[in-house]
Amino acid sequence: MVGPWTRRAAAKATCTSRARQVPFYGIFSTLPARAHTPPRTGIAKSRAVLLEHAPFDMALIVQKYGGTSVGNPERIKNVARRVAEHRNRGDQVVVVVSAMSGVTDNLIKLAKEITPLPSEREMDMLLATGEQQTIALTAIALQQLGIPATSLTGAQAGIVTDGVHTKAKIRNITPKKVHAQLDAGNVVIVAGFQGETAEGQITTLGRGGSDLTAIALAAAVKADLCQIYTDVDGVYTADPRIVPGAKKLPEIAYDEMLELAGAGAKVMQLRSVEFAKKFGVVFEVRSSLNDNPGTIVKEETQSMEGIVVRGVALDKNQAKVTLVAVPDKPGVAARVFKALADATIGVDMIVQNISHGSKSPTTDISFTADKPDLAKARKVMDALKAEIGFAELAVSETIGKLSIVGVGMKSHSGVAAKMFETLAKEGVNIDMISTSEIKISVVIDLAKGDAAMRAVHKAFLGT
Ligand code: ASP
Ligand code: MG
Repeated sequence: MVGPWTRRAAAKATCTSRARQVPFYGIFSTLPARAHTPPRTGIAKSRAVLLEHAPFDMALIVQKYGGTSVGNPERIKNVARRVAEHRNRGDQVVVVVSAMSGVTDNLIKLAKEITPLPSEREMDMLLATGEQQTIALTAIALQQLGIPATSLTGAQAGIVTDGVHTKAKIRNITPKKVHAQLDAGNVVIVAGFQGETAEGQITTLGRGGSDLTAIALAAAVKADLCQIYTDVDGVYTADPRIVPGAKKLPEIAYDEMLELAGAGAKVMQLRSVEFAKKFGVVFEVRSSLNDNPGTIVKEETQSMEGIVVRGVALDKNQAKVTLVAVPDKPGVAARVFKALADATIGVDMIVQNISHGSKSPTTDISFTADKPDLAKARKVMDALKAEIGFAELAVSETIGKLSIVGVGMKSHSGVAAKMFETLAKEGVNIDMISTSEIKISVVIDLAKGDAAMRAVHKAFLGT
């Protein structure tokens, strides 16, 4: 367990991260691995003073501050004070910032007032301005505190992406300018969420993409520590607004975090956690509004398996679609889900029942999809009705998907039974079930969702 997140513990926990062993540079940058040289400017002096009192090594830290953490000038000054604290201890700091909260949404709204389908290239041009405001404001706030600071756009920071506008993937990072600025003694502030193609087109990385910028930069510069500052204290065992007994987790495995996010507990952009897992970037999720230690996200360790359920999530954003009396013959499911995929409708759970009738057997197929996609899904299914010949389409929006997640499930039995028993005692009927190695999800009546979540949390986590 990670106790109080002291700087020493932090350096230890992260210095040994796989990021240092995986030849990330080979894939991600044309620069040779960077030696950790102390900064060449005045910091060295202040550090020497500091060292007399607290003997620790200088660290290279990547900190990301989300939209609410930089939501107004006061908050930006607060971020600057936090960064200054690290800088004054002799650390090198790279700061990644999001747009101020509401700014990206507002830019999207403006464009949509002109046309419902604006060009994606121009959307990237537009949305990238949000983060560009915050980097400059943050640099100004740091300079005001007497800390030398420079802002860099994603492109200037060497973030090269593919050309898929509005949801580009990072191809590689060559953080030459970042290192140069750090070595010159500056705090470097990088615009999150954006990059550029090899041809010099501005791109963005999908909503919430500043998380990805921070994780990828941490890997590229081989940071000792990566901190994701947000408006929550860390990752909780459940949403504290629904489950008062929910507790902050000291640590969580990448896979658990991914499953919880997929189950509706959105703390961070999913892609950034996948990226962190792939490159072994250990990071901490914590609040920018207090000094509480956060949650460390890392590869699972053996000790993590001792806990069966790490967290409980309730996704209220799904709808269920049932095709009643579908002919039970080869190719039907393929046709249904191909049509949904072609319409870029993400399908989560799928259940097919046993066949009825022996001459021309039929079955029911149910699936869940995100509520906002429901209208589209209905249209796609209606268009297929004549071709496939199902009897009717039943749709329910009043469902909730309740999930329990934990790597410990792999080595414990009876977990599903305990969950189902708990729900039975609460009088909750189970509509659909799906399981993975580390997750059990059930679809239940939305009206009973919160109570079911509290009961399941109590059964597995004791509060
Ligand atoms: N500003 C972008 C968004 O709102 C990126 C981010 O916040 O991470 O999605
Ligand atoms: Mg954000």
